[in-house]
Amino acid sequence: MTVYFIGAGPGDPDLITVKGAKLVERCPVILYAGSLVPKAVIERAQPQAKVYDSASMDLDEITQVYTDAHAQGQDVARVQTGDLSIYSSLAEQTRRLNALGIDWQVVPGVSSFQASAAALGQELTLPEQCQTIILSRASGRTPVPDKENLKSLAQHEATLCLFLSATLIRKVVRELSDVYAQNWPVCVVEKASHPEQRIIRGTLADIADKMHAANIRSTAMIIVSKVFAIDDFVDSKLYDPSFTHACRKGKVLDAAMDSVKVATVVEASSHE
Ligand code: SAH
Repeated sequence: MTVYFIGAGPGDPDLITVKGAKLVERCPVILYAGSLVPKAVIERAQPQAKVYDSASMDLDEITQVYTDAHAQGQDVARVQTGDLSIYSSLAEQTRRLNALGIDWQVVPGVSSFQASAAALGQELTLPEQCQTIILSRASGRTPVPDKENLKSLAQHEATLCLFLSATLIRKVVRELSDVYAQNWPVCVVEKASHPEQRIIRGTLADIADKMHAANIRSTAMIIVSKVFAIDDFVDSKLYDPSFTHACRKGKVLDAAMDSVKVATVVEASSHE
């Protein structure tokens, strides 16, 4: 008997993995986070499956579902939003399962920050301009360690994806304004991949008012990044004709010929 923690993806029921969907189809017990996991994902379950919504349960009640299933020798599909590596309470659940000697596995999912980037049609890393993505949240009722405060994260000028922070947008703007100019780009995606998805593009100067006007208060990803304002980035090395890597030999343009003619680069032999 195993508890399978399955990332359901960001909302579109087609964005669960094939592996996750197959487990939902075959597990006799389903425990899903009803607030964010779409019903269509759960409709894959067998008609006789026991289906529980964890939205109103506490950790003890959730653990009881695992214990009962274990006693019956029944696998559990534990379905949660996005990917389990981010703000999922996976760790506290698996700690209980370890203590009880119950086996578990994790099946990854598409995270909401990825679905938000897809909705925006935006690569979050750009060659030589931004090569790091920080996933974080603003500190509110749930505290964030002081060393991870937004002002210090902003120093890196990396793409900053903020979960669970929609109601804290004014605080986010205040803290980031100590480091960035007011025209620093900020995009917000509400309910990425859902039919009612909404996108707001703005800057530190106006994003809070725009979100307020649109009444966006939850299920929203805030992405703060210069990548939204950069269009003069260089091409990547990956597809650079002169760059050799493990899967492809580079070609160089021969300066003596004209640019139409290309010569294959002979890779240096490694005798030394
Ligand atoms: N494990 C999840 C995150 C859970 S925390 C993941 O990988 O996506 C819940 C937060 O995720 C929300 O407050 C919101 O910031 C974000 N979120 C979840 N689904 C979203 C969606 N469809 N669109 C935008 N943000 C979403």
